[in-house]
Amino acid sequence: GSPRLIELFEEQIAKAGLDKEIKVVRTGCFGLCEMGPVVIVYPEGAFYARVKEENVEEIVQEHLVKGRIVQHLLHHESAGEQVEVSLNEIEFYKKQKRVALRNCGVIDPEKIEEYIAFDGYRALAKALTEMTQQEVIDEILKSGLRGRGGAGFPTGRKWQFTHDAVGDKKYVACNADEGDPGAFMDRSVLEGDPHAVLEAMAIAGYAVGADQGYIYCRAEYPIAVKRLEIAISQARAMGLLGENIFDTGFNFDIEVRLGAGAFVCGEETALMASIEGFRGEPRTRPPFPAVKGLFGKPTLLNNVETYANVAQIILNGADWFAAMGTERSKGTKVFALGGKINNTGLVEIPMGTSLREVIYDIGGGIPNGKKFKAAQTGGPSGGCIPASMLDIKIDYDSLIEAGSMMGSGGLIVMDEDNCMVDIARFFLDFTVDESCGKCTPCRIGTRRMLEILERIVEGKGEEGDIERLEQLAENIKATALCGLGQTAPNPVLSTIRHFRDEYEAHIREKR
Ligand code: SF4
Repeated sequence: GSPRLIELFEEQIAKAGLDKEIKVVRTGCFGLCEMGPVVIVYPEGAFYARVKEENVEEIVQEHLVKGRIVQHLLHHESAGEQVEVSLNEIEFYKKQKRVALRNCGVIDPEKIEEYIAFDGYRALAKALTEMTQQEVIDEILKSGLRGRGGAGFPTGRKWQFTHDAVGDKKYVACNADEGDPGAFMDRSVLEGDPHAVLEAMAIAGYAVGADQGYIYCRAEYPIAVKRLEIAISQARAMGLLGENIFDTGFNFDIEVRLGAGAFVCGEETALMASIEGFRGEPRTRPPFPAVKGLFGKPTLLNNVETYANVAQIILNGADWFAAMGTERSKGTKVFALGGKINNTGLVEIPMGTSLREVIYDIGGGIPNGKKFKAAQTGGPSGGCIPASMLDIKIDYDSLIEAGSMMGSGGLIVMDEDNCMVDIARFFLDFTVDESCGKCTPCRIGTRRMLEILERIVEGKGEEGDIERLEQLAENIKATALCGLGQTAPNPVLSTIRHFRDEYEAHIREKR
């Protein structure tokens, strides 16, 4: 309902004769999806939640005309016990730190002037006019930034490899093919702050010696694609993309390529094949993209959220970034919080925040007084974290130790009513469906695992099924060609590890 609210606000503000003084800004997502549509009135920062068409006149007349905040429409915590005026006072935001999402929900993503007013393209200017290529790479290395797409590879090292690779032409690419069920982190960045990605790609292009960038975005994100196209044309018109940027002789341009909804195209070699116009199938590595990527040339590939951190690191320095997070996981991470949780939405937390804080302080706990059972991180490649591990710190290494992974940032919460075998079946069903079929372990192995899971869920499981699942899983992980197959068994293995009794109960209850 937000577009209609915008029209109504504009009408009512004009009717009140305030249209010269008060501007209605259409922003991207502000994170608290559960409370949408959200209207924030500045300078007070008054946070009106679940605004309806019939509330618009009252907000305009009371707040904008008479200067009185409309208390009963503000976001309320715990059924009206506490009334928050500004977003800084709302529990959902208190423990968050917005770096990648800094402009989302704040600026109009279709106006480059607003991005520039919030320090936009200053980092590019600084990199091009004050820093050498190696200094830019060193800053990213020193910041400790790791890839936010899932694998957590140190970003600076990737930049260094691509810089050092020999090639008459190099490329920079952005993976915006977000496909995990329940994940919408990259989409929100692209819809709310597309210039942050363009600026970072230009900085990366300078650092590694590339003059062409590609953003591979799924076609199911039409608003993100539209805003990227607008942002690219605005940046070109201002000379921030194109030739001789900031009169430095540096040339860099970006094109958007659309993916047609294949999950496997998020895998880097499949993504590059798809950009080149071939079928999106993975290939063996090495050679890695940094050496032989797009069109056979050295290519730097990072995901949207990774890029969204770059300009801030260049502007504020590596030490500023490295001061956030844990020893081996620096900075913040964006999560899409979904499932059985009160505050469904998009959150950005410093690495090292505990799962308990995310579920209870930020997420507002489990609906209907139910008990927390587990959280799935890493989507179909990840695993679940049980209630006994609620105090786990969210960072790359702790999650892997717990049998899960950071992944790109989907965080799905389960309560006491969820059957964990069924959850494993759901994720495996997804990967079986998305397997490209190129290699046997993934094409056939995951299907055999799914058959076993289905019979267990249907109460037809047999003695030895759990062991068969484990054995198949180990073989697939060891032999599948790409990350999709290598990680597909993870949800099954992690639910067996933490909820083996549920598998056994299903098999015992065999009819
Ligand atoms: Fe395709 Fe699966 Fe093999 Fe990857 S692991 S190449 S998705 S069949």
